[in-house]
Amino acid sequence: MEICRTINELEACLEVEHLKGKSVGLLPTMGALHEGHLSLLQRAKEENDVVVCSIFVNPVQFNNKEDFEKYPRDVEKDERLLEEKGCNIAFVPSADEVYAEPATEQYSFGDLETVMEGSARPGHFNGVATIVKRLFDWTKANRAYFGEKDYQQIAVIKDLVRQFNIPVEIIVCPIFRDADGLATSSRNQRLSADKRSIAPKIHQILSKSYNLKDSLSLSQIKNFVISEFKMYKDFELEYFEIVDAQTLQPLLKKGNNGVIGCIAVWLGGVRLIDNQRYY
Ligand code: AMP
Repeated sequence: MEICRTINELEACLEVEHLKGKSVGLLPTMGALHEGHLSLLQRAKEENDVVVCSIFVNPVQFNNKEDFEKYPRDVEKDERLLEEKGCNIAFVPSADEVYAEPATEQYSFGDLETVMEGSARPGHFNGVATIVKRLFDWTKANRAYFGEKDYQQIAVIKDLVRQFNIPVEIIVCPIFRDADGLATSSRNQRLSADKRSIAPKIHQILSKSYNLKDSLSLSQIKNFVISEFKMYKDFELEYFEIVDAQTLQPLLKKGNNGVIGCIAVWLGGVRLIDNQRYY
């Protein structure tokens, strides 16, 4: 595996592959890699000649300084894991390298960014779009892999690709869960053993609400989920919204598009997100 720490190294490495006509798959991550990331890597390997995984904790997508500082980091372990799993290129730049050109980009995603993560984390999606657009430009990847755990992020990135006509195919990968149902996340490392043991409630409550979907209206499902979380004092619900799976706007009744419930919840000072498709 090649490890590129500068944009020049990355571009030089990939130019050779593009000239040879090889297809390139990109997996953007913030590191502290886990099975969820590795499931995306596996898919990218199956579908491309060359796989690039970027590891960069992107400061401009954090609206909360403490969250940025406490974000888990273990680059050496990540590099070993990527090598072991057959990644071809790891792109591991410093913040000075990525933002030698200051992050002055201003993106707009209309209603997609006014809800949920967009309203809870002002500036978050502008920061995500800034790094992802730069990664697309530097890698000229044919395909890029994103996980459905960050459901709203996928909608925003698809819109970014549409707005700028970027010749990359966005591949959406399912949520990878631990055996007890908790969606794997770099942030899970920060949970105490005590909090980790109740974290699977998130998926359990959402699954329970899915099983009630034929007998409850969407607003009743929403109330059910909110009231279930109130029973556990360790959880602090930031939002649970049932939205149109394409427009991401809150729904009172099922329309022609799919229906998905998206949640952000705090547990022992750690912010976790998950979602549940209903229709
Ligand atoms: P992150 O490092 O958290 O920014 O995640 C990098 C990519 O991996 C994003 O596209 C995430 O949606 C995806 N990802 C993270 N956790 C999971 C998971 N449990 N299942 C599937 N994809 C995931």
